[in-house]
Amino acid sequence: MKNLLGSSIKDLENVALKYGQAAFRGRQIYKWIYNYKNKKKNIDQIKVLPLDFRKNLRDDGFKVSELSLQEKNLANDGTLKLLLATEDNESIECVGIPSEKRLTACLSSQVGCPMDCKFCATGKEGLKRSLKASEILDQILFIENEMNRKVTNIVFMGMGEPLLNIDDLLLSIRSINDDFQISQRKITVSTVAVPKMINKLSEKSFQILGNCQFTLAISLHASNQKTRETIIPTAKNYEIKKIIEDSKKFVRDTGRRVSFEYLMLSGVNDKLEHANELSNLLKGFQCHVNLIQYNQIDDVEFKRASLKNLQLFQSRLSNNGIAVSLRKSRGLDKNAACGQLRQNVSKK
Ligand code: SF4
Repeated sequence: MKNLLGSSIKDLENVALKYGQAAFRGRQIYKWIYNYKNKKKNIDQIKVLPLDFRKNLRDDGFKVSELSLQEKNLANDGTLKLLLATEDNESIECVGIPSEKRLTACLSSQVGCPMDCKFCATGKEGLKRSLKASEILDQILFIENEMNRKVTNIVFMGMGEPLLNIDDLLLSIRSINDDFQISQRKITVSTVAVPKMINKLSEKSFQILGNCQFTLAISLHASNQKTRETIIPTAKNYEIKKIIEDSKKFVRDTGRRVSFEYLMLSGVNDKLEHANELSNLLKGFQCHVNLIQYNQIDDVEFKRASLKNLQLFQSRLSNNGIAVSLRKSRGLDKNAACGQLRQNVSKK
């Protein structure tokens, strides 16, 4: 079985030639599969192709999608969360976050996740498997289909640890750049950080894509190793100081600043002493801190930090010379936290 989604124009021309068709038939497939207005999910719908060519492709197991819509939730602010079923009866989430000028797609890279972050619904269920590049890309088309507009920005912040699925991640980024026409600078890869993989990500990106211009966002969530391990138990394998060292190398190798995600958890990491500690860890380094409000989930002890603590924390970082911004939660009223829609549907 081969999913044509993720194929380049050249690949599709070669498919057409292999079936005794003219190369332009491959270009017709290309134009069709990357056009979100075609609410397509199978090869028979590519009516522009001759009937016998469609039949041959279908008989040989070619597909254009392996996902189906299982559930959707639209929040009051327009954020759309989709639950998609895979062919092996798993489910994954993706989110479309609209604003006037942008539509940001938040994509999953794995079914489940092995990283076990204590604040996350996905982490509670462990890893089932990694997603193929075609399954990653299909999430974009589902969002575009449902929201009836083009995705402009991509964040790999859905289910899974992208750095544990680097090959398919980079294959999908190749297609996002070339086929979906979204530049690398509009893509963010978010990681909780896996030993050695930050270096590997930039190395492989140079090999496969020829450059490495996407934003790397590291979920730090703590200003010291001990606190980090209480939030992310798997962090015990990767010292926070080593993460900063590897991040500095990423900046040197790529010229791109690194973004550090910091989830504000009441009484855990939201005091001014933590803001000072974080400033010392990051000073003199080309980076940016994103403070995030926490979306509470069932069965988890953590609580959202108060707005007052958040603002004090932000001002302290800023006064200490650290670039910082506050990311407000979107779609809070509808299963907005990572893995939450999947968790709620599986409880039904
Ligand atoms: S927050 Fe991300 S890395 Fe952590 S368990 Fe959830 S999906 Fe995995």
